[in-house]
Amino acid sequence: MKSITFCFIFVFSLFAVSACDPGSSSAPAADNADEAAPAAANDATIDLIIDGDHVLTMDADRSIIQNGAVAINNGVIVAVGPAADIHAQYSARETLAGTNRVVLPGLVNGHSHAAMTLLRGVADDLALMDWLTNYIFPAEVEFVDSEFVRIGTELACWEMIRGGTTTFVDMYYYPDTIAEVVDQCGMRAMISATVIGQRSPDAEGADDSISKGLGFIDRWQGRNPRITPIFGPHANYTLDAEQLAATRRAAMQHNVPISIHMAESPFEVEYAKETYGMTSIAMFESIGFFEGPTIAAHVVWPTDDEIPVLAKHNVGVIHNPTSNMKIASGIAPITAMLKAGVHVGLGTDGAASNNDLDMWEEMRLASLLQKVDRMDPEVLPAMTVLSMATISGATAIGLDKTIGSIEAGKQADIIQVAFEDVHHVPTYDVVSHLVYVTDEQDVASVVVDGQVLMHEHELRTLDTARIRKEATALAADIQRALVTRNNNNRGDKNGD
Ligand SMILES: [Zn+2]
Repeated sequence: MKSITFCFIFVFSLFAVSACDPGSSSAPAADNADEAAPAAANDATIDLIIDGDHVLTMDADRSIIQNGAVAINNGVIVAVGPAADIHAQYSARETLAGTNRVVLPGLVNGHSHAAMTLLRGVADDLALMDWLTNYIFPAEVEFVDSEFVRIGTELACWEMIRGGTTTFVDMYYYPDTIAEVVDQCGMRAMISATVIGQRSPDAEGADDSISKGLGFIDRWQGRNPRITPIFGPHANYTLDAEQLAATRRAAMQHNVPISIHMAESPFEVEYAKETYGMTSIAMFESIGFFEGPTIAAHVVWPTDDEIPVLAKHNVGVIHNPTSNMKIASGIAPITAMLKAGVHVGLGTDGAASNNDLDMWEEMRLASLLQKVDRMDPEVLPAMTVLSMATISGATAIGLDKTIGSIEAGKQADIIQVAFEDVHHVPTYDVVSHLVYVTDEQDVASVVVDGQVLMHEHELRTLDTARIRKEATALAADIQRALVTRNNNNRGDKNGD
């Protein structure tokens, strides 16, 4: 029986590809289905159907299906098309009702430090290097342990699921703990073993963090298809050229990508010039760093000559507009990078420099910031930005074959956004509304790998009451220590 069911699904998958083709998406597709697989009509019980007034597929033609539905079985999208056809062909064990709901791929947060939710608001209004060296790095060495990472990552996953993020690329300490949280909460993540050339919460320096990272990758590679263990060398001012090259060699040996901060601030570019005699991205290229897949966060200060280098090496750039604005790192030349063919996604960065994990805000700010920077309201239109948060973000992190669009054969990472709040009345253009109006509170339901992680704002995989209690208790300890440190810092500054 199993093989017969599989055949039905396979046939429907084939059919679904043509059904969601933009040329035929508005046409009734049932006739073709009957011809292709007459025995299957009304006969296929599947796991889940997601309905919506509008289904944004984010496929190559950016097709939008009115009154659409997505059929999901065993975590995989088996068909997408008009709701009437999907319901005629499948019965599902669970259906997410679609009235006043917009269905789109789950959002991809290409750069985060999830557990930093526990350091949210501890040090604001500071420049990057002051913030990092005088506040964040010391606080991390003092407070961050495996328990901190577990609670902080759970808090982040709660916030991200609540806001419609289904995949994130994380860089933090105790990656095994991050992976365990992701394993349990049902999200998808690329999790970096952080490599940094100084004492950190989980290593004594670069060599130690590389060898511990190798252990993490051995433990998690191939263990859970939702979890991709990768390397996360911090930056080229916290690691020297040999340490960066050694990290790339280790990544190549294990066939894993690298996530890294790159050309984030003017400081980094100046540091690279003084230390390596060339600008930051040129330095990375000179040591062969781009020979394997690279996810580069920020990239605010590429030179005109370096932008084609990013395109040539297929470097995925993650734009973090809120963090770049808050730390005053600068305005990344996103328009120029897109024009040069660079794959650009969006990220929140950590909650200590944002200060939330809201991808809707990142979309909005990405668009507005480029418009005012270029003095051109036509740059980064809504659909381009929505792509950066979904399919283009998936491409930037190398997961576009698996996620990022609603197409038969892809994993079912899908969200439903409620269009019923006052700010959605009236709606003329769904894409405009998603980018310029929608907030994370509007996300109603979230599905990853076909599993419903949140249904009508109710989280199913995280015990939010426990997380709130644990986070509050841990934060009280941190608060006491920080008050003492901040008083000392003020005393030092006043004495200057
Ligand atoms: Zn970062």
